[in-house]
Amino acid sequence: MIVVGGMHGNEPGGLAAMDRLTDRIDRGELKLRGRLVMLTGNVEACARGVRLIDEDMNRLWTRTRIDRLRSISLDACASAEEREVWSLSRELDRALDEATWNPLPVVIDLHTASAPSVPFAVARNTLDHAALFRGLPIPIIAGLEEALGGLLLGHAFDRGARTLAIETGPHESETAAEDLESVVLWILIRSGLITGGELSSVRDSFASLRERCAGIPPIVEVIHRHPVVDRERFVMEDGFRSFDRVAAQQVLAVDHGLPVRAPCRSRLLMPLYQDQGEDGFFIGLERDRPYLWLSEWFRRLRLQWLLGFFPSVRREPGGGDVWRVDRPDHRWVREALRFFGYREQVELKSGTLLASRSRP
Ligand SMILES: [Zn+2]
Repeated sequence: MIVVGGMHGNEPGGLAAMDRLTDRIDRGELKLRGRLVMLTGNVEACARGVRLIDEDMNRLWTRTRIDRLRSISLDACASAEEREVWSLSRELDRALDEATWNPLPVVIDLHTASAPSVPFAVARNTLDHAALFRGLPIPIIAGLEEALGGLLLGHAFDRGARTLAIETGPHESETAAEDLESVVLWILIRSGLITGGELSSVRDSFASLRERCAGIPPIVEVIHRHPVVDRERFVMEDGFRSFDRVAAQQVLAVDHGLPVRAPCRSRLLMPLYQDQGEDGFFIGLERDRPYLWLSEWFRRLRLQWLLGFFPSVRREPGGGDVWRVDRPDHRWVREALRFFGYREQVELKSGTLLASRSRP
């Protein structure tokens, strides 16, 4: 398992959580039965206590950029963050090269937010993730990794790992570091990499996470992102928190003087209140346990051919796991695609939608 903290230099909680875990292992409280690699993300920004120096380090992990950084020397990097990605990607790749691939290695990226928040995970809802995360004491936001490009986790996922980010808040708080530590510990124990889960302090921390996240569905799936073009002209309505229920047509923000409304009855995710950012908010749908169970079994039984019964949906020729949708606005089409895990969706200029999944 590989854990990365401090990818944003103003989020010391991840580094504190890794220190706390190391202490517990050193004290002999927890016994390690495999390999755990912990890495600092943006070393320079962490030392200065700033979010970033030249650019957001968690948006640089695109295939083209990584390929370029692989072929140049450290001195040839164009920004402070490129230098960080240059080093971190090499460490990460080395750790993945040395990993045993059964079960698949896990890469965890630790973050905090400026506002207090219940801890949550961002992960892919694929079959290989479902087994690891069943019973996770915090909610999961699915479909976000697929919607955002250039994430470290996207790079690790493309290399075959299971990936998740954990976020809580606020920055600098003791509770944020404790939350991050507890969730990493839960995953370490679940994956059999560490023993010591019987300790009462560990069990209490899981119980407290569960209590704080009570009432939130196990998975909320992102169906909409509100992009922010001009931060000066976007104002989120006051008082929203992640996972708040919103009604259809409820006003959520004002952008360029016009009200922005919720598209349907849903959950609001990650409202933008800080000065920087390109994501105003996300809208997600609740996925309860029966839905997740059904979706998992329909994927296990490879029933995706059922999608072909929609009149506007057909398999893209060429043998890949891609569906072509001519009328993507048909009421149930997008829902059915997500049900079968086709979350990588590209809309062509013609209005046609191409939906694919890297892993079922
Ligand atoms: Zn962050």
